[in-house]
Amino acid sequence: MNLHEYQGKEILSSFGVRIQRGIVAQNAHEAVAAAKQLTSETGTSWHVIKAQVHAGGRGKGGGVKLAKNLQEVEDIAGQIIGMDLVTPQTSAEGKRVHQVLVAEDVYYPGESETDEFYMSVLLNRGTGRNMIMYSTEGGMDIETVAEETPHLIFTEEVDPSVGLLPFQARRVAFNLGLSGLAFKEMTKFVMALYTAYVNSDSSLFEINPVLKTSDNKIMAVDAKVTIDENALYRHKDYVDLRDLREENPIEVEAKEVGLNYVDLDGNVGCMVNGAGLAMATMDLIKQAGGEPANFLDVGGTADAARVEQAFKIILKDPAVKAILINIFGGIVRCDRVAQGVIDAYKNMGNIEVPIIVRLQGTNADIAKELIDNSGLAVLSATEFQEAADKVQEVLS
Ligand code: GDP
Ligand code: MN
Repeated sequence: MNLHEYQGKEILSSFGVRIQRGIVAQNAHEAVAAAKQLTSETGTSWHVIKAQVHAGGRGKGGGVKLAKNLQEVEDIAGQIIGMDLVTPQTSAEGKRVHQVLVAEDVYYPGESETDEFYMSVLLNRGTGRNMIMYSTEGGMDIETVAEETPHLIFTEEVDPSVGLLPFQARRVAFNLGLSGLAFKEMTKFVMALYTAYVNSDSSLFEINPVLKTSDNKIMAVDAKVTIDENALYRHKDYVDLRDLREENPIEVEAKEVGLNYVDLDGNVGCMVNGAGLAMATMDLIKQAGGEPANFLDVGGTADAARVEQAFKIILKDPAVKAILINIFGGIVRCDRVAQGVIDAYKNMGNIEVPIIVRLQGTNADIAKELIDNSGLAVLSATEFQEAADKVQEVLS
């Protein structure tokens, strides 16, 4: 589950990670009130207005702007709220901005220079260990840094039996070229950040930039936080942080009826039982020259009701030009699935896209007969390749 920057920062702060302070606002009026409150708390009269959408690169798209007085706060907030923000990470249509974070300006001049770093905490799947990935090159695309100057990216892996040790945090601060107060602050920051990552059951923290202020404080200026949904039962207070406006509406609906559905860009809808077979089906469609329109695992019970729900979800995507149903009947018998497909098809009445059904396993022959004799415009197949070829035929 992805969070907004302001929500991620709240979680970081609750574990003692220093953050750039801010208050979220739904309209220009609230933004001005937020700015006034921040000024009374922090003394700064400059603020940054930051679009809250689930996408990075907001600065580049005009979604992060500096306001030097209350009039500018009002104008900029009014401009950003309601805009469709296009960034390198959104589609060409962009993402509608519903709210902004009004934050204290932390790039104030002082005795030393400000400095931006990159830091993320994530699981290294290769070693099965959490790691801190960090770089002196903050504030820019980490992908570009990885490509052009990979030697400026460092990693620190954590042994799960002892957790992050203080010497490791000191090594991070050292590699970032810090000394004195900033070194101590960074050590504290890294320890707190790792504690926050583990205790919030997150699967990704990306803080870009981590800022060294001109008075040598270390703080999170941005926060991309992804919470592991499978751990939400341990964090009842995080459940409400989900913002459905940011998610794909078909995926949200599928989740409500218990289907594992992921929307993709192609034109062949897939209905499959089991995630592994679903992946293989997508591969085969692609190999036969098509493009999958979705990933859909209907799970163990492929009865008529479930097949109908799956049909409805798949057909919500207007790009779908054919549907491939690929079901292995192990515990659930193929003839029951076939009957389910036929019943759902009749119930829905108006399915216009061609459907190819491949049923394999227990009673597959009876299932094929049922489909072939149903009188419906459903093509049956027994072999995997045969099914993919039929999909290509109906598309061309
Ligand atoms: P992103 O573009 O979506 O990654 O959004 P960020 O939160 O990282 O903000 C983008 C950029 O805005 C940062 O890299 C900073 O350079 C700049 N920025 C953020 N906060 C402040 C601030 O308080 N003052 C100034 N002057 N710039 C800021
Ligand atoms: Mn950023």
